[in-house]
Formats: sequence, structure tokens, C-alpha cells
Amino acid sequence: MASPAPLDTSEPDPTVADLIAARPHLSMHAMDGLVLEDVPLSAIADALGTPVWVYGAGTMRGRLAGLTAALDGLNVHVHYAVKANDHLAVLRLLAGGGAGADVVSIGELRRARHAGIAGRDIVFSGVGKTHAEIRAALEAGVGQLNVESAAELAMISAAASALGVTARVALRINPDVDAGTHAKITTGRADNKFGIPFDDAAALYAHAASLPGVQPVGIALHIGSQILSTAPYRAAYARAAEMVRTLRAQGQTVSVVDCGGGLGIGYRDTPGLPPAAFAGALRAAFGGLGVELMVEPGRWLVGPAGLLLASVVLTKGDERFVVLDAAMNDLVRPAMYDAYHAIVPLASGNAVGPVRNVDIVGPVCESGDTFARGRALPAVAAGDRVAILDAGAYGAVMSSTYNARGLAPIALVDGSRWAVIRPRQEPEDLWRNESIPDFITPDVVT
Ligand SMILES: *Cc1c(COP(=O)(O)O)cnc(C)c1O
Repeated sequence: MASPAPLDTSEPDPTVADLIAARPHLSMHAMDGLVLEDVPLSAIADALGTPVWVYGAGTMRGRLAGLTAALDGLNVHVHYAVKANDHLAVLRLLAGGGAGADVVSIGELRRARHAGIAGRDIVFSGVGKTHAEIRAALEAGVGQLNVESAAELAMISAAASALGVTARVALRINPDVDAGTHAKITTGRADNKFGIPFDDAAALYAHAASLPGVQPVGIALHIGSQILSTAPYRAAYARAAEMVRTLRAQGQTVSVVDCGGGLGIGYRDTPGLPPAAFAGALRAAFGGLGVELMVEPGRWLVGPAGLLLASVVLTKGDERFVVLDAAMNDLVRPAMYDAYHAIVPLASGNAVGPVRNVDIVGPVCESGDTFARGRALPAVAAGDRVAILDAGAYGAVMSSTYNARGLAPIALVDGSRWAVIRPRQEPEDLWRNESIPDFITPDVVT
């Protein structure tokens, strides 16, 4: 099991110049400082305050176009994994680039529909779909339900029969392959909760074919997230291809293989998984099988396109600690996964000075509220601003309001234009739906 990149790492931190050079959507200008696409980020921080999320629409569109181009010639459709970043504007712009959606809850299903994605372009995944979710998915006419157990198959058959519809289902197999990623985001090993054990899949497929209300169309797999080499994909897809052949040899019809997501991005100054290499793994396993392929990338499409801007509140401990106004409630990945996020100053003058090794922390009352330890950062002082990079995936969607911190606003940049796509949540918004029942005696309050 490869260990994750820890917060404090022996690898030297890339320089600000190297970080920006590795990200074509970012540039550093002498006057304007850090620029996303064509918008100086300080203009957004001036207008909205910090912390604030900023997404690059052109960057997301470009990444989808790049992936689609790399997959050219394969019979494949991209279903964006909504959980990575479920903002309506993100869903709409990716749908505009030809992507469908992969959803894992009724909330995501309704978001995708509300953003204008047709039911037939939606795949419903997830290990614990409820009766209500299955019914909603069937009523929305989703293109496919990925089934993770015999119990779920029975639920879908009953619901579809009651509604008088036929559910297209794919069986999610667990290929028992180690994706070599962080333990909390690996999903394709036999001891993970996901999927149907490889050895049980053929019998369950035959059972599915005999049930009313369901039509098994193929198989699905998703082995984990932030995968940076093709080796685990090649191993898993070889198993999937083997399953297709086994099923066909048993007389079953298999027309779809949903290959999942997991494509990793470069959080430092190294590239992520090249889409051409991923396409090569698909071609090697499925090229001659005559199946329709689906892929479900989340992080790869949107991660690099998002930043979290923050201001330095103060430095302390002989300048060892840099305390930001952003915190783990905004971006939890460092606390939850020991994730590395590059952090660069917004002002060009700050970006060139000598670096110091500092702990970059938030104000929340938890030691885990740490974005980076021993990080090489050019000198910053109270009031200076920084950008936490590559925060477009599993960023705002994982935010909480812990410490009664309202959700940070979101701005969307598109070339030289930008707009607020979610305002800052004020403290009053947090308790708007709370009530104090009558039996809580009023006289304790003076
Ligand atoms: C989370 C998830 C994805 C997307 O994973 P990424 O690493 O963001 O690409 C795709 N498919 C399924 C079933 C998932 O659970």
C-alpha cells in the first residue's frame, strides 16, 4: 500500500514559479499578481473578501475537451462524478461540453436534473441506495443504475416492476485490485465495502437477467481516487474484460463497461495522470470487445480549476505559524487525507522573496486545522493573501459550518469575466431554520 503524501514531507516544496509553470490556467503578473485565466484574483478577494473559492470555467471546459480528445476513437461517454464539485454552474458547463453525470444520492440526482442534464445521461452509483432513491432514479429515467449487491438488485427489481418500467443495470464488480492510493480513497480491494465480489458476479448477472423489471446491460468498476499510474487501471480492466468474456460465454448479453473514475492530478509541480495513458489502458483491455465504454472522472476535470483564497490573519511563534482566515471547515482535505495542497502568495512582490519553512494553519479549535507543515513559503505578513491551489474537487462540497463559520462564497471566472455563483453564508443564515421549543423554559434566559 503506497502511503499518501504526508503534510510534512521530505520532498522539497516546488517554488512558486515552478507551481505556476505547471498550471497553464495560472500566471503571475508584476502588477496584478496571481491571475486565473484572465482575472486577477486580488480583484475577486477585494470584492468578496476572504476566504473565497474561485473556479475557472474555461479551465474546466478545456480539461473536458482534452480528455474527450484523448478518448477519441474509443466508443466512450464521459459521466462527470458530481460529488467532486456539484455546483449547478459546474454541472451546466460540463454538460455543455458533452458530459453526462454520475450521481450517488437523490440530492445529486436532483442537482444534475436541475442543471439541465437529461435523465438518460445520468448514471446512479452508490453502495446504499434507499428505496426512495431508487424510485426517484427510475422516475427520472436514469440511463443506468450501478448495482452493488444482490439485496439492491432485488430492491430495484421490485421498484421497477411497481412503476412498470425496466431499469438498465450494470453490476459493479470488485476486482480486488489495489489502486495504490490513500486508504480512505481506495475502493477496489476485496476488503472495501464497494461492489460485488468478483467470484459472485457471474451468478448474480444471470439472476439479474431472470428478474422482472431489470435488464442487465453490463458491468461497472471504480477502484479508487487520485490514481497516478496506469498499472492499477490495467490490472482492474483486465479483470473486467475477463468478466465480460465469462458472461458472454455463459450466454449473457454484455454491452456496457463503466470504467469508473479516479484519474489523479498533480498537486505539486508534476503532471497528473495523462489522459492519453488512461485511454491506452482502456484500449488495451476493451479495444476488441465491442462494448460501449463509460468513464466517471471527477477530480481530474475540476480539481486544478479551483482555488481557495485566504488572508493571513497574523503570524506567531517567531513567525513559525502563519494563521489564515480559511480553515478545515472550508477545505478539509489536508486534515482528512493528509493531502498536500500547494499554497502561493497572491501578490507578485510576495512571490519572489526568500522562503521560510512555516506551518500554515486555520483558526478552528483543532490541531488538525493545518493546511501545511514545514512548508517553504515566501515571507508573508498579516493582511497578505494566499491561494490554496487545486481545490476545485472535494473542496467546497466537503465544507462544513463547524465553529459557526458560514460557507465561503464562490466566484466563477470565465476568461476575463467573473461572477459570484454563491454568496457568503452569514451567521444568521446558519440558524435561520433552527427553533427553540416551548418546553425549553424561557426563564433561564435573562
Ligand atoms: C468518487 C467516484 C468517482 C469519481 O472519482 P474521482 O477520483 O473524483 O475521479 C467515480 N465513480 C464512482 C463510482 C465514485 O464513487
